[in-house]
Amino acid sequence: MAKITLSNLRHSYLPNPKSAEDFALKEIDLDWEDGGAYALLGPSGCGKSTLLNIISGLLTPSEGRILFDDRDVTDLPPDQRNIAQVFQFPVIYDTMTVRDNLAFPLRNRGVADARIAERVAEIAAMLEVEDMLDVRASHLSPDNKQKISMGRGLVRDDVNVVMFDEPLTVIDPHLKWKLRSKLKELHQRVRATMIYVTHDQTEALTFADQVVVMQDGEVVQIGTPVELFERPQHTFVGHFIGSPGMNVLPVVETDGRVTFEGQVVAVEGKVSGQGGATELGIRPEFVSIAEAGLEARVRKVSDVGRHSVVEVMVGDTPVKAVVEGAVPVQGASVFLNFAQEQTRLYRDGWIATEVSP
Ligand code: ADP
Ligand code: MG
Repeated sequence: MAKITLSNLRHSYLPNPKSAEDFALKEIDLDWEDGGAYALLGPSGCGKSTLLNIISGLLTPSEGRILFDDRDVTDLPPDQRNIAQVFQFPVIYDTMTVRDNLAFPLRNRGVADARIAERVAEIAAMLEVEDMLDVRASHLSPDNKQKISMGRGLVRDDVNVVMFDEPLTVIDPHLKWKLRSKLKELHQRVRATMIYVTHDQTEALTFADQVVVMQDGEVVQIGTPVELFERPQHTFVGHFIGSPGMNVLPVVETDGRVTFEGQVVAVEGKVSGQGGATELGIRPEFVSIAEAGLEARVRKVSDVGRHSVVEVMVGDTPVKAVVEGAVPVQGASVFLNFAQEQTRLYRDGWIATEVSP
């Protein structure tokens, strides 16, 4: 096990990268603490697999270093990094039985037979594949192939990190939920560093203690699920996490005074910086229908079970509110209240309000 440090990492797939857009990874400085359960979350194409492949050594970064504890491994091939990587699609030997597939990473490293049998039994029990151990892998369903692939990633107990690259893509929804809980449970048991890559916020938030959010080749925030929900450092995080995501509203800011559609709005605290494009961020959970406040008109009401999502127009800008209990009717004129301590200003995407101590 080791702490993993990525230092000044940049990567381009082009031979002569020039502008920032030529880089799949722009500038990454990141520490993965030993034993952590991490999720790497971001939309398709933001650079998640590139980052994993650089950690495992399948790719050499254009710039920067990778350290395991204080050892520089940037130039080491994958087999010398002691890493297990599980990919989006199953990687198994079709001609071998399930048992031999699971045993393979251990046999390869000369582990004693008795210990191999023990580990294979443990992993098979965890994944609930005991009844398939003597089946040839080519006979398995895609679901089960991927389970075995995950098992191969988990069977060694001497790895620096286990990395999963969207491993549940081919798994059906019911089993997905189950496997995700199993992984979480397993992490708590073995305490190996795990990095779980996904574009699905639910998967990330249920698995990880720390979530690393990426956009466009950059890390925009690292935090616990609660931190990401409560105080997004970037409008992208606010929008990407939450259902519905944070309202991101164009505003005018002059000397700390914020106006939205010509109406003054109080923000959480002191405004920092100046210039740039300013937006107000407030989650729908903290927008309420009130006796007085911002003038708005109801556009649409959706009952989503435990609560309703009310979409209103303030001037020309749509705003969403999560409402418990009675809801206004479509077309009604209402007033909106934004909970002040949850109302933040963003400048060019980054948070620009400070909470008063
Ligand atoms: P993610 O895993 O988040 O979906 P990737 O790391 O696969 O993202 O891709 C990041 C960017 O790099 C994308 O623009 C993608 O098109 C590009 N890319 C990925 N792999 C290659 C490759 N082998 N050659 C050229 N470009 C690539
Ligand atoms: Mg990927």
